Amino acid sequence: MRYRLTVNLETQTIDRSDLPEEAAWLGGRALLDSILLAEVPPTCHPLGPYNKVIITPGLFAGTTMPTAGRLSIGAKSPLTGGIKESNVGGMAGIVLGQLGIGALVIEGESASQSLKVLVIRQDSAELVEASELKGLGNYDTVAALKKRFGQKVVIISIGPCGEMKMAAATVAVTDNDGRPCRHAGRGGLGAVMGAKGLKAIVIDPQGARPLKAVDAPAFAKAVKEYTKIIQSSKSTAFLQENGTAGLVDVSQARGSMPTRNFSAGSYEKKDAINAERLKELMRERGGSMGHPCMRGCIVRCSNIFNDQNGQYLTSALEYETIVMMGANLDIDDLDTIAQIDFRCDDYGLDTIEMGATLGVLTETDQFSFGDRNRAIALIEEIGQGTVLGRILGQGAVTTGKVFAIRRVAAVKGQSLPAHCARSIKGLGVTYATSPQGADHTAGFVTEEPLSREGHTERSRDTQINVIIADSLGLCQFTGLRAEHDLFARLVGPLTGKIPTETDILSIGKDTLWQERTFNTRAGFGSGQDRLPEFMATEPLSPNDTVFDVEDQDLDRVFGEYPKS
Ligand code: SF4
Repeated sequence: MRYRLTVNLETQTIDRSDLPEEAAWLGGRALLDSILLAEVPPTCHPLGPYNKVIITPGLFAGTTMPTAGRLSIGAKSPLTGGIKESNVGGMAGIVLGQLGIGALVIEGESASQSLKVLVIRQDSAELVEASELKGLGNYDTVAALKKRFGQKVVIISIGPCGEMKMAAATVAVTDNDGRPCRHAGRGGLGAVMGAKGLKAIVIDPQGARPLKAVDAPAFAKAVKEYTKIIQSSKSTAFLQENGTAGLVDVSQARGSMPTRNFSAGSYEKKDAINAERLKELMRERGGSMGHPCMRGCIVRCSNIFNDQNGQYLTSALEYETIVMMGANLDIDDLDTIAQIDFRCDDYGLDTIEMGATLGVLTETDQFSFGDRNRAIALIEEIGQGTVLGRILGQGAVTTGKVFAIRRVAAVKGQSLPAHCARSIKGLGVTYATSPQGADHTAGFVTEEPLSREGHTERSRDTQINVIIADSLGLCQFTGLRAEHDLFARLVGPLTGKIPTETDILSIGKDTLWQERTFNTRAGFGSGQDRLPEFMATEPLSPNDTVFDVEDQDLDRVFGEYPKS
């Protein structure tokens, strides 16, 4: 039986309770959303005591299934003001799952100036004082906690940006090598953790064992089938060879790569930042592709990037960071991008939001395209909490308001990631309508990218299928989305309660409905399901397209949507 740990920072109490029977099939995003909708007042202040940080391993996390140990972290978002689930790799999902923890709920807020660390062991949990960690980056925090609690512990932490309650602050999770380089990046969840006075969660893996399925032979048979599908997929081979950096060339060919603050869809200097260049640097100075962020991953899209001296600089250098800090800021240099990436990981900052924010800043006298040193200096200002840094750390929309910049690529307060909606209109529909704000992982629709028609159903279906994957703990890079029959044959033997394909589909539908309901109660309406105005009027090269999907088609994504 999986259990729930409820940790109250105000009363300093920790309660343990079994998850209810009806949650048997729920994990990850589905379980998180059900708790959030039931327990967090949608109109509460995101940084106040009524908000909760909810952490839920996917349903398969902790089993023998590979690439299925993802972790959901969520709360009411300080960036969007709506519901937020951010999905992250690393080792925490697997170890929490193996310890039998289905949900970890952090509530209340610590007395002012007090900073705590939550320590979870096989049969106990405690809050300990951690004022010595105040202001430390994620790398130093992890080093200090490993020294104190042992080298094998898995750590979830925030950097100084979380402590300063910035709306672009992330929550870091240590990877398979124990580095804090996997991030629940979007929506400012680090700020919510910081507002509660919780610097880190230390998970001792001692006693953690792979979860046993109720019907082990049937589960093993279905896992074998699942593994074979992933191992034989072309996408797996591509990601192992190129990492997500391989998407630079794909995006360039589509004309969907944000360039110079979303003013073009292709970058004439893309060869300086693509996977071929990344691999060339790795051959010269070490580092590697094909790295697993979590134990046992069979896709292994991650990488390790070394500096000019052959020393570790960052992991992983991903497509989103490369493009948002590269093409979008006209920085054609992977070393600079890697230095920014390391600082963002250390300070606990979302690289997507920061790339968009610095893009907005190019419309002021504070920053110019291509200024590498200034880009690094601005990120450092954010980590140090200067006045300008605190503005930028609130994200692209706040920065736009402070400097009276109208042209900001964001939806529901969250900046667009590194895929232009005007060249992939189905994805634009997801950006506009997802309760999560603009997010490529909420439902990437690639069919008929330049057509204005047919995306309502595609986006809705994809959003539902992505939620199923996020709830089961599957990494989206498995490529599995709509295999509901296979998922049913995995969930049934694992839990002993056999779902139908319709039951599996209902996990996605019901969860999407819950997210929409939370946002509606928080004050959102269809007026927020829109892309920025300039995307409807400013053609994007090289396709010379605007985002012209009709408002009524955007409204139909949820307008006809019934709860299952
Ligand atoms: S495919 Fe990549 S992101 Fe997904 S679990 Fe494996 S290494 Fe992590």
